[in-house]
Amino acid sequence: MAEKNKAPGFSTLSVQAGQSPDPTTLSRGAPIYRTSSYVFKSVKHGADLFALKEFGNIYSRLGNPTNGFLEERITALEGGAASVSTASGTAAIFNTIITIARVGDEIVSASNLYGGTYTMFDAILPDLGITTRWADARDPQSFEKLINEKTRLVYIESIGNPVLDVADIDAIAAVAHKHHLPLVVDATFSTPALLKTIDHGADIVINSLTKWIGGHGAAIGGIATDSGKFDWSDPKFTLFNQPDKNYHGLRWAIDLSPELKKIAFALRFRTVPLRNLGACLSPEDAWVFLQGVESLPLRIAKHSENALAVAHYLKKHPKAAWVRYPGLPDDPSYPIAKKLLTKGFGGMVVFGVKGGLPAGIKFIESLKLFSHLANVGDVKSLALHPASTSHSQLSEEQQKASGLTQDLVRLSIGIEDIDDIIADIDRGFAAT
Ligand SMILES: *Cc1c(COP(=O)(O)O)cnc(C)c1O
Repeated sequence: MAEKNKAPGFSTLSVQAGQSPDPTTLSRGAPIYRTSSYVFKSVKHGADLFALKEFGNIYSRLGNPTNGFLEERITALEGGAASVSTASGTAAIFNTIITIARVGDEIVSASNLYGGTYTMFDAILPDLGITTRWADARDPQSFEKLINEKTRLVYIESIGNPVLDVADIDAIAAVAHKHHLPLVVDATFSTPALLKTIDHGADIVINSLTKWIGGHGAAIGGIATDSGKFDWSDPKFTLFNQPDKNYHGLRWAIDLSPELKKIAFALRFRTVPLRNLGACLSPEDAWVFLQGVESLPLRIAKHSENALAVAHYLKKHPKAAWVRYPGLPDDPSYPIAKKLLTKGFGGMVVFGVKGGLPAGIKFIESLKLFSHLANVGDVKSLALHPASTSHSQLSEEQQKASGLTQDLVRLSIGIEDIDDIIADIDRGFAAT
């Protein structure tokens, strides 16, 4: 007999969470609310909404019901308390940082980051007076050495760039929490389908919806999920403990009800940077991601299955100099990956093509099934040779420092038939 009161499983939540038939029209599908603004029932109602005494719709930059369905669904999938959707994954990251840190503060971040995030932390945050200290994602103790009284958060990616090192989230969370700091995890490469980062100590989870959650390369979007577990009452979090001039002097960690204090991060994110800097997700794109997320568990299983087969194939190929995939038993990340990624190792494979830069270019240009482009997480297989494209402006020395080699080819393995995927890789090798 089925267990009573058992929490719904991941696949059920992917399809059902956050949206039920529309009470007015009985529409089963999620309606797209194409509206900028919402009528106040009375002056008091309007005032209560702004004062956070009551939750409701005000203006679609702050929140939209279609986005709300998506936010509730991702919250359920991550096992968090509240989520805020944004115009891109990048906007989710930037708004997360400035929700917590301000001029004079520091962050401690793993250095093996998505390129755009690296530039944000390396070149843009310092201009705003926020200093990034770079740690080694493979060494949890390297984070501790960089933490000081100015540190406001610790940042990692669940599976990093460019060589797919899997972070020991439990160990890094333990370091962050020892110093009463939140751990922010960009979980784009794992998605909640493969790894529930909150269960391993993440306080804030970021997903670029653009990638596997959307899954079809059809829209750009991001989301930040608040675990509801971090206590912001430490006075060093001045943005939460001193009167916030961005929100009529509210002290987020002091003045809110106990219930709302738990999601103080999500509330400040929505009502300060989202409201006043404006990087909101359009309801059309929220709807696109709602379609995508429904099949996330099915797709990610197929991505992982195909990627593992490609990794094994490359491992044996005489023209592949090296291969990195967290699911290969001799991969440096395998011991952690085996512990964390129990449902699959994800859709990304990187390898070195023998013959360096010219061979890399030949390989990429000969592919037919793989699309040569700078995205990941599509149902279609994608390939990139960073040294000749996305990272070609960097000097060879800078490339080396970021762990990027001239021979590195990055594959985002799609859900096509594995024989066709491997035949295409063979075609690429034949050209080198
Ligand atoms: C793509 C990506 C981002 C940025 O997301 P956008 O939606 O493109 O802004 C951030 N982190 C990771 C790991 C990504 O793959």
